[in-house]
Amino acid sequence: MKFGETFTEYLHGDQERFLDKCSHVEYKRLKKVLKSCRTLCDHMFFSELMKEASDIAGCFSSRARHLLHLHVASGMQRYVLRIRQCFKNDQTAMIEEGRVLIEYIIMNAIAIRKILKKYDKVHKSVNGKNFKSKMRAEHIELLQSPWLIELGAFYLNFNGLNCGASSEFSGHFSFDFNASRPVMTLALPSSIKLEYDLTCAVCLDLVFNPYALSCGHLFCKLCACSAASVMVFEGLKSASPDSKCPICREAGVYAKAVHMLELDLLVKRRFKEYWKERLIAERAEMVKQSKEYWDLQTISAVGY
Ligand SMILES: [Zn+2]
Ligand SMILES: [Zn+2]
Ligand SMILES: [Zn+2]
Repeated sequence: MKFGETFTEYLHGDQERFLDKCSHVEYKRLKKVLKSCRTLCDHMFFSELMKEASDIAGCFSSRARHLLHLHVASGMQRYVLRIRQCFKNDQTAMIEEGRVLIEYIIMNAIAIRKILKKYDKVHKSVNGKNFKSKMRAEHIELLQSPWLIELGAFYLNFNGLNCGASSEFSGHFSFDFNASRPVMTLALPSSIKLEYDLTCAVCLDLVFNPYALSCGHLFCKLCACSAASVMVFEGLKSASPDSKCPICREAGVYAKAVHMLELDLLVKRRFKEYWKERLIAERAEMVKQSKEYWDLQTISAVGY
């Protein structure tokens, strides 16, 4: 089946019930625009596509945030308990919504890739390819969303409960820690594999209590705080807007960092001992830092 047909089928599938307020890539319309480009070029193409992509990214992150927040907000321990106790129906509904969201982002990401390829073919240009880098720079590259990693972790956290419902459109998440570096893999329907590296670039270990900065890079909270020169107890929100990501050197990426609670839960469940060790170390560091902080306050208050 051609992608256009697959996409149409997807649009008329069960996503309609869940995502009635979310926009999709207007694949058919954009294809028509490209067709007319052969005679007269429409210069609105990229600005329209940019708007669509940012709408989709926005809708996806707010829906994913909402879904995951519902179940983590009340605290990790209770969350785990609640999963065990919660009614089968609730579980199924949650997983179903997670699946629909993953599918939403994958299908639209593929649609964008396809339409950009067509653009370059019609125009004999590399503008379509360049547009991809622009999307990455604007943080609306759909498959790089930290919320996709969170949903993947959410999915894997349900593993063992035998609820891994999937459809022909959704990808498949897996988790591999036996390799030289920890990765989460997302296998797309078109046999493309995406790898998300879960190594913290500061401590070079599996992320603990992870945060995703706006640029998409993942770090342990402790490591991100030290990179931004803030105390752990102050949190990443107090980072200066000039603080840069240690990997890509982009500034202003701390204020809207995403706390990756599902990923943390996944690490906790799969690597209990490691997780506990890191927790103890984080607490010790926090105590040390607050002691230093108060000592400093006292010195400045007393004056010596
Ligand atoms: Zn054109
Ligand atoms: Zn780290
Ligand atoms: Zn970065």
